[in-house]
Amino acid sequence: MQIGKYTLKTILSGFIGLDGGAMFGIIPKPLWEKTNPADDLNRVTLSTRNLLLISDDKKILIDTGMGKKWDEKSKNIYRIDPKLDIELALLQNGINPNEITDVLLTHLHFDHTGGSTKLDNGKLLPAFPNAKYFVQKKNFEWAMNPSDRDKGSYIKENFETLVKEGVLHLVDGEINFDENISFKVINGHTFGQQMIKISDSSNTILYCADLMPFVSHIRIPYVMGYDLQPMITVQEKKKYLKLAADENWYLYFGHDPDYAIATVKHSEKGIIQDKVFKDFE
Ligand SMILES: [Zn+2]
Repeated sequence: MQIGKYTLKTILSGFIGLDGGAMFGIIPKPLWEKTNPADDLNRVTLSTRNLLLISDDKKILIDTGMGKKWDEKSKNIYRIDPKLDIELALLQNGINPNEITDVLLTHLHFDHTGGSTKLDNGKLLPAFPNAKYFVQKKNFEWAMNPSDRDKGSYIKENFETLVKEGVLHLVDGEINFDENISFKVINGHTFGQQMIKISDSSNTILYCADLMPFVSHIRIPYVMGYDLQPMITVQEKKKYLKLAADENWYLYFGHDPDYAIATVKHSEKGIIQDKVFKDFE
């Protein structure tokens, strides 16, 4: 897909398993397991699906997946596929990590920024040596000092090095990154998450990040147990689903194991899923 000056390309950087109950909050398992079947430890499959925006002079990566800095215990808990990560996924798509000019981080949870840094002879370094990294200031501040409930989701080795190396740029609120890319700030899942909106005069796609990780989260009450402010998530979903239905946006899903993209439409039951796509055609 081409939007403005950018060609959009999916970079699938891995698969993990997370507790199905946590992924669907108050929704009973007989409902969610129809679309997202659980394994014998009640985990459902998540992709870490990243988006690459390519123009004549830029290669912009949205989120960086889990990375490779995991011990055996964590690999088992999160069912991390050791064969795949963002660097390998880029190389398989003919892109060298050195070519990435910008990394737009939706937030600093480990499954979104784990691949931002790498270990090189025991030293932590930015995984994309020529890139500027961008995250919301509010999310960075929360990540440096999270609550006792959510501190397990923020692992400092994934972002402190970016500060030390002077490559992490803190964004304060909703901005236009350029004429085609803008940041939309939401606060239900965590504080200061930013969704990435890419648009031109004919097409809009929204990288939903953890507002709606799966296509099945298009249903309003399907809100993750991880969310710090679930009622804010409900309001944010209503706002962005209405915009998407009214203005024919494409929604891009970072964690759905099967579908990268969906559209939505108005119906008698409210806004519902319309078309789904495995990837750009
Ligand atoms: Zn998250």
